[in-house]
Amino acid sequence: MARAGDLSPEEFREAASRVAEWVADYRDRVEEFPVLARVSPGETAAMLPSSAPEDAEPLEAILDDLDRIILPGLTHWNHPGFLAYFASSSSAAGILAEFVVATLGVNAMLWRTSPAATELEERVILWFRELLGLPESFEGVILDTASTSSFTALLAAREAAGVDSRELGLTGRSDVPPLVVYISNQAHSSLEKAAIAAGLGRQSLRRIETDDRYAMDARALERQLRSDLKAGALPTMVCATIGTTSSNAVDPIARIADICAEAGVWLHVDAAYAGPAAMLPEKRELFDGWDRADSIVVNPHKWMATPMDCSVLLFRDRRPFRASLALTPEYLSSEHEGALDLMDVGLALGRRFRGLKLWFLFRQMGAAGLRALLRRHLGLAADFADRMRRDSRFELAAPVPFGTVCFRAHPRRTRSGTSEARMNAVFDDLEAANEGGRVSNELEASNEWNRELMARVNRRGPVFLSHTVLDGRFTMRLAVGSVHTEARHVEAAYLILCEEHDEMAGAGGSAIGEERMTTV
Ligand SMILES: *Cc1c(COP(=O)(O)O)cnc(C)c1O
Repeated sequence: MARAGDLSPEEFREAASRVAEWVADYRDRVEEFPVLARVSPGETAAMLPSSAPEDAEPLEAILDDLDRIILPGLTHWNHPGFLAYFASSSSAAGILAEFVVATLGVNAMLWRTSPAATELEERVILWFRELLGLPESFEGVILDTASTSSFTALLAAREAAGVDSRELGLTGRSDVPPLVVYISNQAHSSLEKAAIAAGLGRQSLRRIETDDRYAMDARALERQLRSDLKAGALPTMVCATIGTTSSNAVDPIARIADICAEAGVWLHVDAAYAGPAAMLPEKRELFDGWDRADSIVVNPHKWMATPMDCSVLLFRDRRPFRASLALTPEYLSSEHEGALDLMDVGLALGRRFRGLKLWFLFRQMGAAGLRALLRRHLGLAADFADRMRRDSRFELAAPVPFGTVCFRAHPRRTRSGTSEARMNAVFDDLEAANEGGRVSNELEASNEWNRELMARVNRRGPVFLSHTVLDGRFTMRLAVGSVHTEARHVEAAYLILCEEHDEMAGAGGSAIGEERMTTV
């Protein structure tokens, strides 16, 4: 094995089979690991040599260390009990495609640097566009993440706003009014980052208030737009979300589209997570009006079984995208009339052959298979939400339009009816444990209870939940979105929640008090 160059053809065949075996084996045994990594900071680094090996090592040694050092330090995103954040899971099609992508190692920056990669990317985006029910006027590109997609959209919107920042930049100019970006107070942080990176600054953001379903208040948006216009600002982009990260809220897109059309403002729709659900006729209603957006982002690497990274940026007009970033130095010029150079849309020159992942996925699962996957997830989330509604120990914290359930535990109740007196003791202890006044009221005590409950659940191993804060209240999230998750995994999450909840209630207040002291 200690060759100076790469493996010989025979060695490669053998090594590839060995890795394929490891991959298949990992998929079989991933459930045996705790979902959430249990290592402490520095633990993995301490097992790694401080310098690169001077001599080539056999594949077996690397695979051994992969098992020994790396796997214990991973949070297993492909564990079926991964119910935190939004899942990003690897379907077989996705894994196989990645293997081929790496093998071809194509860089589709220009049409001629791989015509088929460019044309396949265009074609799978058109397939996707059609499955999503969007009109033919949409085309797009595949970028790495939704953060990049939304940033790219903001650059196009900035150009479309007519300040010619491409030539003149934004600094040192007295002729540029303040550029303003509108998002709801539930929008993803990537929009804030985009505003920072695009030179607009955080002060350019208007965080529009939301209603009792955490959806943008369209009238508040309208009011804000008016007052900004009056003050001489230049509204540059409105970003509406379908399926917010926090609670899956759906902004009133049709109303917002009306407002944007009237004011002549760029509408960007962030459907990074929920977008694939537009493939389901029964969910189309939630996407009403998104066909009027100037740009849309949907991440197949979230709810569509595609391994990181794959974010589809759709748009109706390529010109502002080209106007913001297209640039061809002499050494990249080529003479193919009418051919599309993907580097012209977006910041990156080099680009991975991501279209191949969607091509494998659409073909290996079929549109019917993808719809079935989404419906399975929606069904599992609906079942879990039902349990939260029926079980007096819990409550739903937000509507459940997609696959994510926001819920809270009631600290005071157990199914068997723990006495008020006992529970009051819990709160007394909590307050006693925090004489500094941190836990000064029932809301904070309840937040603390929920935080502790989630930590206990996550320590158990088989499932991983994450949280958000809604109206100042700590809220657990269970998001079903992995190709591997089945009914029994969501069931396990429910049972573990119940066990830990009852354990906490039964343990009285002192345990929580002590825990607080160590975690605060
Ligand atoms: C996850 C998410 C993003 C960011 O996605 P990346 O691909 O990780 O950048 C943006 N918007 C929403 C609504 C999301 O859920």
